[in-house]
Amino acid sequence: MHLNFLGATKTVTGSCFLLEAENKRILIDCGMYQGLVEHLNLVPFPFKPEKIDALLITHAHLDHVGKVPKLVKEGFKGEIIATRATFDLAKIMLRDSAKIQEEEVKKNERAVALYTIEDVENTIEKFSTSVKYGEEISIGKIKAKFNDAGHILGSAFIEIEAEGKRITFSGDLGNKGKPIVRDPEKPNKADFLILESTYGDRNHKSIKESVEELREAIVNTIERGNVIIPSFALERTQDILYFLREFFEKDLLPECRVFVDSPLATSATEIFLAHPECFDSETLKVFMKKDPFDFPTLKFTRSVIESKQINHIKSGAVIIAGAGMCTGGRILHHLKHNLAREECSIVFVGFQAEGTLGRKIIEGAKAVEILGEKVKVRAKIYTINGFSAHADQSQLVEWAKLAKAKRIFLVHGEERQAKLLSMRLKNCYIPSMMESVEL
Ligand SMILES: [Zn+2]
Repeated sequence: MHLNFLGATKTVTGSCFLLEAENKRILIDCGMYQGLVEHLNLVPFPFKPEKIDALLITHAHLDHVGKVPKLVKEGFKGEIIATRATFDLAKIMLRDSAKIQEEEVKKNERAVALYTIEDVENTIEKFSTSVKYGEEISIGKIKAKFNDAGHILGSAFIEIEAEGKRITFSGDLGNKGKPIVRDPEKPNKADFLILESTYGDRNHKSIKESVEELREAIVNTIERGNVIIPSFALERTQDILYFLREFFEKDLLPECRVFVDSPLATSATEIFLAHPECFDSETLKVFMKKDPFDFPTLKFTRSVIESKQINHIKSGAVIIAGAGMCTGGRILHHLKHNLAREECSIVFVGFQAEGTLGRKIIEGAKAVEILGEKVKVRAKIYTINGFSAHADQSQLVEWAKLAKAKRIFLVHGEERQAKLLSMRLKNCYIPSMMESVEL
């Protein structure tokens, strides 16, 4: 049995692993590289897509699912297996990704689209084999079980049994105590563990503290100016809406209007409401009485006209928009109108990768370029770290120890993060890109 590390080695994005066992070839995730390593997306697949028997998807983030349309376009005919929520979210994520790539190609001669919207639609037609958490499925003699990873809606870690051994792929492991999704399930004993290490070097602030920081940022700003929250469309926006609803119900905020100015986040929120089977008990309890992501002063603005109208508001608005790292999307317009105003606040609630506009702002840039214009940074900048959707070091260690694996392969983390995590666990190995190991 062979395991090939085809992505997310010593880096966070591009998850893709090929398991060759029992005369079958199975891919676990087929993700896109993002940020500084984006150019790696153009490297051809190191296998023949038509020779792959099945693709198992851990969750709908693009760094796990973003290259599936390319795989299908290049001849993959096997089964695609994921939870129902993952399929539903992957549909909107992939359509959005194709749209962004097509726009990029129009703007920049050197840009290459990995696939078109048509390729995405052909891929979506293959989203047929959905699994429930805990259900065992077979691919020939191989057995696979999807368990709740508690990372985002529908996310799973996958336990595979082949040739008398158990190999567990953690996917992305969730942060305990997060709202909406359940905490990660415990893994069974495994022979081999492929473990993510995004935050292998540190522990998070508590979610409770972060929620209070968010509330204070809004209270301190809203009577004078606006609060701009760059947010990922998937999960983070719904987390923030969940907390804002609680603030309003408990009367913890002054009067303000809240806008979700992101068609993708709006669609994602609708999908969340269609999958209460993924909710934790608190969210389910709320859901049985009302919409957990709605409150009277909230408005979802889908159209460009509605979005532009927000630009006239000078104070009293909380504006949630994407992209989460300010790399594009409607957030740029809101930053252009509010970043230079000292009475406003920009509240970062998610990870800001190196090289992004978001990172420049949190690192204290005095001025930044937005949509071709130089904009001074005068607004108050808040960076709230505790909303992470990833387990921190102590949670990763605790979870990994339960699997009692003979060997742990650390992936989905920068080399430094993986190394620091490896010091806390026994029998760790940090594989390199394209490395193949015999299990
Ligand atoms: Zn993820």
